[in-house]
Amino acid sequence: MKLNERGLLIVLSGPSGVGKGTVRKALFDMEGHDLVYSISMTTRPPRGDEVDGEDYYFVSKEEFERRIREDGFLEWAEFVGNYYGTPKDKVEAQLKQGKEVVLEIEVQGALQVREKTNDGVFVFIAPPSKEALYRRLLRRGTESNETIQKRMDKAEREFPIAHKYDYIVVNDEVTNAADRVLAIIRAEHAKTERSIHKYKELLGVDFSE
Ligand code: 5GP
Repeated sequence: MKLNERGLLIVLSGPSGVGKGTVRKALFDMEGHDLVYSISMTTRPPRGDEVDGEDYYFVSKEEFERRIREDGFLEWAEFVGNYYGTPKDKVEAQLKQGKEVVLEIEVQGALQVREKTNDGVFVFIAPPSKEALYRRLLRRGTESNETIQKRMDKAEREFPIAHKYDYIVVNDEVTNAADRVLAIIRAEHAKTERSIHKYKELLGVDFSE
């Protein structure tokens, strides 16, 4: 791992139910040693076997609002009646240590990060079709029909925002999608602006021409 080199901020985003979490987990299985996941904070109650401090930091509304006032979030959003946010200090410290930090967040939050930082890589995870998204939300079986409908309506409003991202990855099949995200991360590392100084050191080349 690089010393004194800022890590890459990778923002995986897209509509709820699209499978961002599953793609992220598959990505970590492929390349976990170089990536760290930024655990979000939420006021939503835990679902099923979710664990505090692993899946989310589950906090009260009061606690979340206190952190908003203290400017403790890189971004935060209200999503279908609950707050979700990325604790700021941790992400910054990890990037400074040269770590690759992965955020898995909804669209409004991703747009906030886009406005604040100039070094993030923004990946929109899209469903193969609207029907597939609806089926996934239904299959999850953890929400009421009303909440599912709210999530679908929100997704309809989010699809057009995909053009503001650097990349779009269709989650047709989880390992394929994770493979594509990994390819994006590798390509980002090879970008001239990120790799030219190493090239300069290795070959002693002068780029003044
Ligand atoms: P869920 O309730 O299904 O876990 O999450 C609802 C939505 O909030 C998902 O799209 C999820 O990716 C998003 N989300 C999770 N953590 C954060 C966060 O820290 N910030 C934002 N803006 N969205 C988040």
